Amino acid sequence: MICVSIGRGRHRHVIAEHRHLADNGVRLVELRVDCIQGDVQVRRLLRERPCPVIVTCRRPSDGGHWDRGEEARQLLLRTAIAEGADYVDLEEDVAGDIPRYGTTRRIVSHHDFTRTPADLPALHARLAALDADIVKIATMANQPDDNLRMLELVRGSRVPTVGICMGDIGTPTRVLGGAVGSPFTFATADDDRVLAPGQIGWRRMRDVYRYDSLTPATRIFGVVADPVAHSLSPVVHNAALAAAGIDAVYLPFRVPADHLDAFLAHAARWPLAGLSVTIPHKEAVLARCTACDDLVRSIGAANTVAFAASGLVASNTDATAAVESLQAGMVDADHPVKSGLIGLKSALVLGAGGAARAVAFGLRREGVEVTIAARTLERGRTMAAEVGCRAVEWSARYRLPYDCLVNTTPVGMHPNVDETPFDREHLRPYMVVFDTVYNPESTLLIKQARSIGCRTITGVDMFVRQAAHQFRIWHGADAPAHVMRDALKRATASAKEPV
Ligand code: NAP
Repeated sequence: MICVSIGRGRHRHVIAEHRHLADNGVRLVELRVDCIQGDVQVRRLLRERPCPVIVTCRRPSDGGHWDRGEEARQLLLRTAIAEGADYVDLEEDVAGDIPRYGTTRRIVSHHDFTRTPADLPALHARLAALDADIVKIATMANQPDDNLRMLELVRGSRVPTVGICMGDIGTPTRVLGGAVGSPFTFATADDDRVLAPGQIGWRRMRDVYRYDSLTPATRIFGVVADPVAHSLSPVVHNAALAAAGIDAVYLPFRVPADHLDAFLAHAARWPLAGLSVTIPHKEAVLARCTACDDLVRSIGAANTVAFAASGLVASNTDATAAVESLQAGMVDADHPVKSGLIGLKSALVLGAGGAARAVAFGLRREGVEVTIAARTLERGRTMAAEVGCRAVEWSARYRLPYDCLVNTTPVGMHPNVDETPFDREHLRPYMVVFDTVYNPESTLLIKQARSIGCRTITGVDMFVRQAAHQFRIWHGADAPAHVMRDALKRATASAKEPV
C-alpha cells in the first residue's frame, strides 16, 4: 500500500488534498500536522477524513517543522489517539511516555538524516520493544549497500516494518518495500512537494513502478549511474514491462564510481537480473563481466549487463541504435535506402564522450569516414586513435563540409534549449543532421536543420532503439517500442529538470 504524506499549511488545503487523494484511490494518508500553521484542529481533520490516516507531528530534529514546544506536540499526539486516529507516529524517545489507547495503532519511528546505522537489527529491536504495531526506520543512504541492509531487515522482521533509505541512493528501498513485506511505503502528493529527501510522488510509485503489484518473485532490473535522478530509463522500461505483462521492475540505482565493484559483487542479494549502465560506469563495468559481445570488445564500453548463471554478460546497444536511427532516418519515399548508410561518405561527430564513441564506432563499421570535433582535443585524439578516424579542434568544426552531422554533446539539452553546438549558417540542405539529445526532441539544432531542408534524426529515436535492444537481451522478446516512445515523449514533455 502507498501512504501519501500531506504537508500543507492550512486545514482546508489538507482536507481538500485528502479528499482528492481518496477519490483517486489512495487508501492511507499521513497527516503531517507539524506543517499546519497556527492551532492544529486534529479533531476536525479526523472527523472529515475520507480514508484512514497516520497522524505525525515531526520536530525539526526529525526532519519536521513543529515549533510550538514539546509539551504541545505530545498533547496533540495524545488527542489524536483519544479521537481514534487510525495510526499515530511516535518517535523512539517519546513512545514510552505515550501509552496505547483505543484502536489507534502505534508506529514507533526512528529517523537519521546523516547515515544508516551499522547495527540496524539492534535499533529495530529497541523500537519494537516500545509496544510497536509497526516499526518505522528512515535513514540516509550513503552507499548502495545501505539499501540492501534495510531491505534485508524488513524482510526478516516479525513486527511489520517500514524501512526506508533516504536520499536518491535510497530510492530502491521506497519502491521495493512492499515486495519484502513492508505494510506500506511513503510517497508525496506530487513529485515537487517532497517532505523527506528522496521521496517520490505517489502517482509515479503507482503508475511507473507499479508498487502494489511487486512481490518477492518480481525480477529486478535498473540503471546504474551517478547521478541517476534525471534518468528517463525507469519511465521507459517500466512502461514496456507493464505493456508486455512481465513481472519485473526497473529501478534507478545511484552508485558512486568507487562503489560499483561492491554493488555488482552483491547483485545476488537483491537479486538483480539486468542493468543499464551509464556515466560514469560504462568502461569500469567491464572489469566484472565474464562475457561480452563484439561491439563491447571493439568499443571498450558497455551500456547493458545481464546477470546469467555463468556471470555478468555485457552488451552495447548504443552503437547499433545510432546506426539503425540513421538508417531509418534515411529511408523515405524520395530516397529509398534498403540497407547500410548508402550515400553517407563523411560524418562530423561533435563531442568525444561515451555517446560519441558508440556513434563513431557504429559509423566506421558502416564504412563512413568520421571526424571528431572535441572541446578537449586530447580526448578526441585518444578516441580517434581507437576508432580509426581523425580528430579536430572544436573551433575547426566548420572548416570542411560533411554529409552528416551528429551532435553527441549535451549542448541544446533542457533547460538550455536556446543553445546549439553548430551555427545555423554552416548547415547545408544536403546534410543529414542527427542530434542524440532527446530532451527536448526538437532541439534548436534539429529545428534549424529542418528549417533549411536537412534530413533530421532525433535522440528520441536512438534512445528508444537502445532501450528496445536491452529489453530483447533481458526478456528474450521484442520490446513494445511504441509504448517506450510514448512514455519517453510524455516524460520529456513534462520534465522540469535537465535530463
Ligand atoms: P560524456 O561522456 O560526458 O561526453 C560529453 C561530450 O560532450 C564530451 O566530449 C564533452 O567535452 C562535450 N561537451 C560537453 N559540453 C560541451 C560544450 N558546451 N561544448 C562542446 N562540447 C561539450 O556524455 P555522453 O554519455 O557522451 O552523453 C552526451 C549526450 O549524448 C547526453 O547529454 C545525451 O543527451 C546524449 N545521449 C543520447 C543517447 C540516446 O540514446 N539518445 C544516449 C547517450 C547519450 P569535454 O570532454 O571537454 O567535457
